[in-house]
Amino acid sequence: MDKKNIDWGNIGFGYIPTEQRYVSNFKDGAWDEGGMTEDANIVLNECAGVLQYAQTIFEGMKAYTTEDGRTVIFRPDLNAARMVDSAKRLEMPPFPAERFIDAIDQLVKANEAYVPPYGSGASLYIRPYMFGTNSVIGVKPADEYQFRAFVTPVGPYFKGGAKPLTIKVSDFDRAAPHGTGHIKAGLNYAMSLHAIVTAHAEGYDENMYLDAATRTNVEETGGANFLFVTKDNKIVTPKSDSILPSITRRSLLYVAEHYLGLEVEERVVPFEEVKDFAECGLCGTAAVISPVGKVVDHGNEICFPSGMDEMGPVIKKLYDTLTGIQMGHLEAPEGWIYEVK
Ligand SMILES: *Cc1c(COP(=O)(O)O)cnc(C)c1O
Repeated sequence: MDKKNIDWGNIGFGYIPTEQRYVSNFKDGAWDEGGMTEDANIVLNECAGVLQYAQTIFEGMKAYTTEDGRTVIFRPDLNAARMVDSAKRLEMPPFPAERFIDAIDQLVKANEAYVPPYGSGASLYIRPYMFGTNSVIGVKPADEYQFRAFVTPVGPYFKGGAKPLTIKVSDFDRAAPHGTGHIKAGLNYAMSLHAIVTAHAEGYDENMYLDAATRTNVEETGGANFLFVTKDNKIVTPKSDSILPSITRRSLLYVAEHYLGLEVEERVVPFEEVKDFAECGLCGTAAVISPVGKVVDHGNEICFPSGMDEMGPVIKKLYDTLTGIQMGHLEAPEGWIYEVK
């Protein structure tokens, strides 16, 4: 397969349209057969459910080339399952998990020329999503939906090394108890935009959200889960029903325990405790782990001993091990690597 002539190392994270995307429609109680289309545009009625009441969910994952030249996707079964959970919470008809995998497989095959070559540091970002399409004016779920998935090549997340982030404790809340924080829905992002624009304007890279009920416990950022390392090398991650269950974070915990022999704890993490940790990182598909160097709580600075120059040693080990599994340098646990043939 000839690859596109793209400067893979310098493309950044933006939308670069490719020729093919996948689409399937839900009507009269059933999903149609679905297939590939070259049409990147969607024409909707002015009263479509998604436009009026934000009935839309999405997923994010990556395809890449391993050292031995295979095109693979990391744990797409978990994205499929999470999208089913998201759909149920917003009263949308789930796109069946096995159809999700088939759609992603067709999509990546059709865009094989855009899967960046091994060693470029770039990857092919996959964005599945679905939304209510028919007209809805009284508040209720739509009856008709579209599932779509497109791909866009993205550059290496860390150009010239991973620079630790500075984050602020936000005065805004991300998700309410018993709300929708645990599903991957556009609505969770719409309301975070003001908070992130504000944080950026103040010179911070990200927001740390605390639990909305008591504002005493760590939740997550707008789009990544926290992982902390204690001074005696335990891995700690916050537990809460309003955190989005990151596939990267779940995979890193497994790696910590089974590959690195570290103790792991998923539990409530009081903000009070953050100053005692040795390292901090943000987990998500985009970067795997971004190191955090400093957390600022209303002028009060918490500086992790790992500093502002590089990843801390344990986070670095976790990063190297998980990316090693993804790239095929290390043996993966059963079922983690899906090969597109
Ligand atoms: C997608 C997302 C993450 C990261 O999840 P991954 O499955 O690791 O990509 C974390 N937090 C939020 C709010 C998200 O939407």
